[in-house]
Amino acid sequence: MLSQAAIYPGSFDPMTYGHLDLIKRATQIFDKVIIAVAKTSPKKPLFSLNDRLGMINEVTQGMKGISVESFDGLVVEYARRHKVRVIIRGLRMISDFEYEFQMALTNRRLAEDVETVFLMPSEGYSFLSSTLLKEAASLGADISSFVPAFIEKKLKGKLKK
Ligand code: ADP
Repeated sequence: MLSQAAIYPGSFDPMTYGHLDLIKRATQIFDKVIIAVAKTSPKKPLFSLNDRLGMINEVTQGMKGISVESFDGLVVEYARRHKVRVIIRGLRMISDFEYEFQMALTNRRLAEDVETVFLMPSEGYSFLSSTLLKEAASLGADISSFVPAFIEKKLKGKLKK
């Protein structure tokens, strides 16, 4: 079998069990999964790039077949530089569809040789987003079933500041 790598890009602000669920699924299909953390995002991340990378490294420790990197600029250019032909994105609800569909087709126009593959999380995480997580945490909700304990602690610490 040919060895096949994939890039999983995102802002991961912060990484949740939804992202982790997708990464586990991806590692069962691809030999190597590069988690590519966007340096900048229109969503204005709460956590610095270093914090986001640190949290991902911590909670993915021991997982085989992954690497964690940061990137800036177009995902397709990043993919080409790394000679990777697959981009992984997650589909939760229908509400993700329109944006993800537009982005996948735009990326295809920019790079015909790079394919976007969509994975669906376990239904238990299909409503979970980093944005809602931060909102719920800031209102004092129990978020222990959404993120690993290490990230829960970091998020609570950040929101206290
Ligand atoms: P971005 O800012 O690029 O959307 P995110 O970190 O929010 O970055 O998400 C990265 C990818 O992970 C997106 O494709 C998103 O749909 C997916 N994703 C986020 N949360 C979940 C989840 N709970 N289940 C499955 N996919 C998810």
